[in-house]
Amino acid sequence: MARIVITGGSGFVGSHLCDAFLARGDEVVAVDNLSTGRLQNVAHLDDHPGFTFVRADVCNEIPVDGGVDGVLHFASPASPPEYLGIPLETMDVSSLGTRRALDLALASDARFLIASTSEVYGDPDVHPQSESYNGNVDPNAPRAVYDEAKRFAETLASTYRRLYDLPTAIVRIFNTYGPRLRPADGRVVSNFLIQAIDGKALTMYGAGTQTRSFCYVADEVRGIIALFDSDVCEPVNIGNPTEITMLELVDIVREVTGSSSEVVFEPLPVGDPTRRRPDITRARTLLGWEPKVELREGLAHMRDWYLEERAHGRA
Ligand code: UDP
Repeated sequence: MARIVITGGSGFVGSHLCDAFLARGDEVVAVDNLSTGRLQNVAHLDDHPGFTFVRADVCNEIPVDGGVDGVLHFASPASPPEYLGIPLETMDVSSLGTRRALDLALASDARFLIASTSEVYGDPDVHPQSESYNGNVDPNAPRAVYDEAKRFAETLASTYRRLYDLPTAIVRIFNTYGPRLRPADGRVVSNFLIQAIDGKALTMYGAGTQTRSFCYVADEVRGIIALFDSDVCEPVNIGNPTEITMLELVDIVREVTGSSSEVVFEPLPVGDPTRRRPDITRARTLLGWEPKVELREGLAHMRDWYLEERAHGRA
């Protein structure tokens, strides 16, 4: 049994990680300041003997006493409207927060895993994106508050590995969806699903020809844990390589919800990447991981979760 600290533990991916570590018998301490995470995401763990929730801003301190075996740093807003809304906090949590999380791991010589992102590739001019591609990010563009902060967080982790021989891991997470992605999160999958369920128009930013590759959260979490359990220290893409345009996503969302919602076209946000698809050769080769859940199936789970939340008056 290991003792695992998960920053951002009441967030979307963080809370699923809490479930997965607890399910295999580990002890979990979730640390979150609830700026974008929700207590509701971990409410079902309240009475679990292996689970502790600590409300704290990891930029200031991570108040966890005693030894730990693993630290997974997942605290950060991840949705473009959210990180653009709190740009300074976003940069702080990946710089100051990553330092605090690394120091916590260092004190116990624990395995450290940083949640990085496909955004480190920016608007990529290499396709699909493999980990050896160094990206195309404008450091002065609005999205850089997230992209550059995550790039810096990767650099911090690699520096602790070189300086102190700390066993660090870097996961580059590609667009992930599933239950607990907040209805108001602002990302395309949650927006389209909620709009379709409500019979409202789907808000398409730009022409809809931009592409993304969507990974179901259970697949994502399985990949992250496989990486955590390995001794791999180089960055690893964990994402689903099935690439679709946002116009294709409209058709799938309509099919899954039985909706005939119209599409309204709105301006494309500045710096919105044109296309994105992970090359997952490294994850396949080093971790034996690949995604299993097809988009229609994953969206159906997410639709059911939203309907259930509504039924309980929670969304
Ligand atoms: N998008 C959209 N409608 C929305 C929200 C997002 O068309 O209501 C677009 C967005 O401009 C981007 C893509 O969908 O091209 C994926 O956006 P998301 O915010 O989910 O993630 P990103 O990959 O941009 O971080």
